[in-house]
Amino acid sequence: MSHKKLTIPVIIIAAAVGGAFFMLRKPVSAPPTNNEQRAITTQQQSSDGFDKNKYSTDEPGSVWQIVNKKRALPANYVPEDLIVPDVRLRLVASEQQMKFRQIAEADLVAMFNAAKEAGVTLVFGSGYRSYELQKQFYDSYVARDGQAAADRYSARPGTSEHQTGLSFDVTSISGKCHLEICFEDLPEGQWIKAHAHKYGFIIRYPDGKESITGYQYEPWHLRYIGKELANEYHKTNTKTLEEFFGL
Ligand SMILES: [Zn+2]
Repeated sequence: MSHKKLTIPVIIIAAAVGGAFFMLRKPVSAPPTNNEQRAITTQQQSSDGFDKNKYSTDEPGSVWQIVNKKRALPANYVPEDLIVPDVRLRLVASEQQMKFRQIAEADLVAMFNAAKEAGVTLVFGSGYRSYELQKQFYDSYVARDGQAAADRYSARPGTSEHQTGLSFDVTSISGKCHLEICFEDLPEGQWIKAHAHKYGFIIRYPDGKESITGYQYEPWHLRYIGKELANEYHKTNTKTLEEFFGL
C-alpha cells in the first residue's frame, strides 16, 4: 500500500486526476445497518464474552469490515462521511488523501493529542483513496516493478483498505523513514506501537504475517476498528483481523 518510490510529479498528477474523479463521483448510499444480519447470525462469543458479531465484517461502511486481497470493496464504494480530520496533515487539505471518516475522527484527534503530550508529533500521511486513485498508483507500480513485486506492497484497486476511509499512513514531521520499515524505530513508530490500540487503531500489517495479510510489514499503516475491538485485540495479543475473526 505504500508509494515510497513514486516520484513527486507522478504523485501530484495522480492526486489531481484522482481528486477530479472523486469530485465527479456521487457518493453511494451506505448499506443498511447490520441489525438484520446480526439477528440471523449465530452468536459467536469469545471466552471472555466479547461479541464478535456485534458489527459486520462484510458490509462496506461497517467499522469492522475486513478488506484484503480476497475481500474487495465495490469499485463505486465511497464512504458517506469523509471529512478532513483536525490533525496535522502531510499534504494540503484539498488533497483526496487528506480525508478520513468522521466516525473515527474524535479518536484520531485524541491519539494525535496524546502523542503530542508525550512529545511525539504525528503526521497524517495518507488516508482515504478512491478506487480510481488506487488504480493509478497500482498501475504505475506494475509498470515500474512488475506485477508480482507490486502485489507485495500495493493493493489492487478495490482491495485497498485506504478505500474504506478508515486507514491511514502515519508519518513524522521530518519525513524520515516515510513508508519504510525503519519508521518503527522512530519515536513516532514506537509510540504508535505502544498506544494506538487505546484509540481504536491497530497496525494492520504486522511483521511476520505476510502469508495471512498478503502484505509486508508496514509499521506506518493504521486501521481504525474502534476502541472496543482494538482493546480486545490487544488484550488477546491478536496480530491480524483475519485470525481474530477466523477468516
Ligand atoms: Zn497504507
